[in-house]
Amino acid sequence: MRNICRGMTEFQNAEFSVFSRSIGTGIAAINMDTWIWLDMDSSSFTVSFSLIYGKSIHHLIHTNNNKTINMPMLKDPSVKYKAFDPQLKLNDRQWPSKTLTKPPRWLSTDLRDGNQSLPDPMSIPEKKLYFKELLNIGFKEIEVAFPSASQIDFDFTRWCVENSPDDVSIQVLSPCRPELIKRTIESLKGAKRATVHIYLATSDCFRNVVFGMTHEETIEKATECTKLVRELTKDSIDDNYNKTYWSFEFSPETFSDTTPDFALKVCESVKNAWGPNIENPIIFNLPATVEMSTPNVYADQIEYFSRNISNRETICISLHPHNDRGCAVAAAELAQLGGADRVEGCLFGNGERTGNVDLVTLALNLYTQGIYPNLDFSNLENVIEVVEKCNKIPVHPRAPYGGQLVVCAFSGSHQDAIKKGFKKYQDKIKNNGDIKWSMPYLPLDPQDIGRNYEAIIRVNSQSGKGGASWIILRNLELDLPRGLQIDFSRRVQLESEWKGRELKTKEIIDLFKDKYYLYDENDENDNETVAMLDLFKLGNYNVTNEGKNRKIDALVSSKSKELQLNGNGNGPISALANSISTYFNVKYEVIHYNEHTLGKESNSKAVGYIGVRVADNEQIIWGVGIDEDVTEAGMIALINTLNGCIRDKLIRE
Ligand SMILES: [Zn+2]
Repeated sequence: MRNICRGMTEFQNAEFSVFSRSIGTGIAAINMDTWIWLDMDSSSFTVSFSLIYGKSIHHLIHTNNNKTINMPMLKDPSVKYKAFDPQLKLNDRQWPSKTLTKPPRWLSTDLRDGNQSLPDPMSIPEKKLYFKELLNIGFKEIEVAFPSASQIDFDFTRWCVENSPDDVSIQVLSPCRPELIKRTIESLKGAKRATVHIYLATSDCFRNVVFGMTHEETIEKATECTKLVRELTKDSIDDNYNKTYWSFEFSPETFSDTTPDFALKVCESVKNAWGPNIENPIIFNLPATVEMSTPNVYADQIEYFSRNISNRETICISLHPHNDRGCAVAAAELAQLGGADRVEGCLFGNGERTGNVDLVTLALNLYTQGIYPNLDFSNLENVIEVVEKCNKIPVHPRAPYGGQLVVCAFSGSHQDAIKKGFKKYQDKIKNNGDIKWSMPYLPLDPQDIGRNYEAIIRVNSQSGKGGASWIILRNLELDLPRGLQIDFSRRVQLESEWKGRELKTKEIIDLFKDKYYLYDENDENDNETVAMLDLFKLGNYNVTNEGKNRKIDALVSSKSKELQLNGNGNGPISALANSISTYFNVKYEVIHYNEHTLGKESNSKAVGYIGVRVADNEQIIWGVGIDEDVTEAGMIALINTLNGCIRDKLIRE
């Protein structure tokens, strides 16, 4: 087996001829999930590998003198592939009208199924790190190794046994072979809780083709091996073994391709041999070792098993769906509706070929339906870090929940909707403490899995006004008026197009400060910029009342110039605007003015936004000002519109 594994790897490096000589023609299991057929014709130097599943043998790769021949797609694939026949008619199926109401028992097989599928398997320190992360997440059942396969697996199992909390069951896998079962159980010596998992081929293809075993022989072998496990574990008189809380798991391989009644027959016999009870049920793991059909078929198979196995209350039905057709999550969900109690899988769907079912997605799917999954992904970023470090496979940017891009909106219309959604949500919390989540485009509050809101909206050239103004709102607390949002988004779009990429938060903030001259006097860098730009600033001013009118005298100065402005208006801002108008001899009209306070404290600052039209230009020039005094914030904003007009050459100094 090891030779074949090595051979397959070497094959990809085109060195398989060495391997083929050592094996010859034959069939072999790489593990419980993968079987290959090797055929070598030494006279023509032709080697072919076939992947076997179901009842047929699928040609995988054909090589001749180290050249791989790729078969083209067939116009009529039915000559080569036939639709899956579940051998089951379940016309009174109950699962379609059910809903998930509770989490399943979870088993992580990251360290076994997941690890064995890695191009670059985990080192021992990586396995330990991963194991600890699984404990942090809250897994109570963890399959850690195939201890009879190697000393490394054996030793790692020992480490897990010695380092796991009392309520965690260490699970290990063994084929139905007495000497391997004995070795496997030795690895669990002294465990507080342990699950022995054995598997045997029950599908016709494997039984007949691979092992040449009859139905009766298969049942006998499964039963004998179960009795052996029982003798060495829960019936043991050895003090090293009889203090452990033993569980037992049996997998009929591959369940989804096994005649349903035969799967039941084997499991009945295994169950009688083990002698389960309600408190400690026997685990029947019913794997879709290779996903062969639509998820509803798997759900039917599970429901049929669940309805027909005797003493159902002493049985835990476990799922082990692989993702060959991309439906493992759906299959696991529907099969739970069909009666399953437990799910085996891996974080982010690692595992053989297309992987095992993704436990993160399953758990968070439950969570977003209001069901606590008993797995804690509060710090999903940390989980991702550990998974990527140990598996050396990145989590896909669009992986549900965990992908870097899944809470990000780039499109303007999505951003607008999310921005409005957040405002409504925050108002709802403020008004009546209602935290019920209802957000456009976001099925889960990113904060629940430790992601911040800043990640949600990202800005590129496709983003509209919503994106950039969201960044400004989150970072500077400025709730920009609509006209200013549009004005700023044009600038952001230009910048993003020019750079040919998404803009970072800091770039957007800097762009905003530069465009609207919103500099912080306490910031050295800002002061340098101000000095360079030679901007006008509001100096001393005096406002007097003349009936309903306000008269202003203000000193407005830059490094190189001083303007003495005087004017009248119905308020200080219009008076200042009129004084600018008079000074430069141009129509200077305030089109838009609003303000709001910044921060939550009563003594906090205010921000003013002003939009002006100069002469009869279409373009509106915007200014922003911040001050302790709300009127002065508006006046600063107005002076900044003057700076903008000079920059855009709407006014000549
Ligand atoms: Zn598997």
